[in-house]
Amino acid sequence: MKMQAFTVENIPLIKERDNIASIICERTSIEDNDIIVIASTIVSKAEGRMFRLEDITAGEDAKRIADKHGIDARFVQAVLDRSHEVLVEFPILLVETDNGHVCIKAGIDESNVDKGYMADLPTDPDQSAKNIGEGIEHQTGKKVSIIVTDTNGRSFKIGQTGIAIGVYKIHPIKNWKGQKDLFGNILEITEEAIADEIAGAANLLMGEGDGGYPVVILRGLEFRSEEGSIREMYRSKREDIIKKGLRCLSKV
Ligand code: GDP
Ligand code: MN
Ligand code: MN
Repeated sequence: MKMQAFTVENIPLIKERDNIASIICERTSIEDNDIIVIASTIVSKAEGRMFRLEDITAGEDAKRIADKHGIDARFVQAVLDRSHEVLVEFPILLVETDNGHVCIKAGIDESNVDKGYMADLPTDPDQSAKNIGEGIEHQTGKKVSIIVTDTNGRSFKIGQTGIAIGVYKIHPIKNWKGQKDLFGNILEITEEAIADEIAGAANLLMGEGDGGYPVVILRGLEFRSEEGSIREMYRSKREDIIKKGLRCLSKV
C-alpha cells in the first residue's frame, strides 16, 4: 500500500480576507480524494482572527489566574473569553473552547503571527474547512476532503503533534467495530482517529517554525465521505471521565 504526502510550495504570508482555496488551487493540481491539510494559523489569519493585548481589559478571574502563572492578565482574559470551561487553571491553563476543543490557552498563538498580534483559533473550524473545501471543489471540479489542524500537546506524553480541529467531507473516526482481526476475532471497541493521524502525518512536513508550509496534501487514501464533523471525535459529557476527574481536582 502506498500514500503520498507533499507540501504546496510558495504560499505567501496570509492576510485577512485572502482566499485560501484560490491560493492552493493556483499553486498545485488537485485530484479526486485528495485530503488537503491546512494549518489553523493561516485560516485564522485569512478570517481576521488576530487581536492585540492592548485592546483587552482583564477582569478579576483573569488577574488571579495570571498571577499564578506570572503572565499577562490580558492574555488570560483573552483565553477566558474564548473558553466554555476552564478544566485546569494551574500549572497549565487547560480549557474547552466554545466549539468543544480541549487545549492549552484556548489555542491562542503568538508564533508565525505579526509582532504584537495574537491569533485565535478559527471560531468554527468545521465551517472554515467547508468554506475552503467548497471553494476548491468549485474551482477544480475535483472531490476533496479538508482537515484544519493545530499543534497540541497530549496528556500522558511529552511532545506536541498535529491534531485535527475541523473537517470537511471526512469522518474523523474510522470505526473498526464488527471487523475481524487476523485470527477471526471480531473487533469490539477499536475506533481509529484517522483525522488526527492524518494531521500528525501532515505536520511532519509543515514543521513548527519558519518553513512556510501551512498546506500539505495527502494522496492515495480513500476516506472521503459525504458527511463529517470534528464533533464526532469529542466524547460526550457523560463518557468523558478525564474531564470529570479534572473537575474534581479543581475543587480540592
Ligand atoms: P499551527 O500548527 O496551525 O499553529 O501553525 P504553525 O505556526 O505551527 O505553522 C505551521 C506551518 O505553517 C509552518 O511551516 C509555518 O512556517 C507555516 N506558516 C504559518 N503561517 C504562514 C503563512 O502565513 N504563510 C506561509 N507560507 N506559511 C505559514
Ligand atoms: Mn497553533
Ligand atoms: Mn504547528
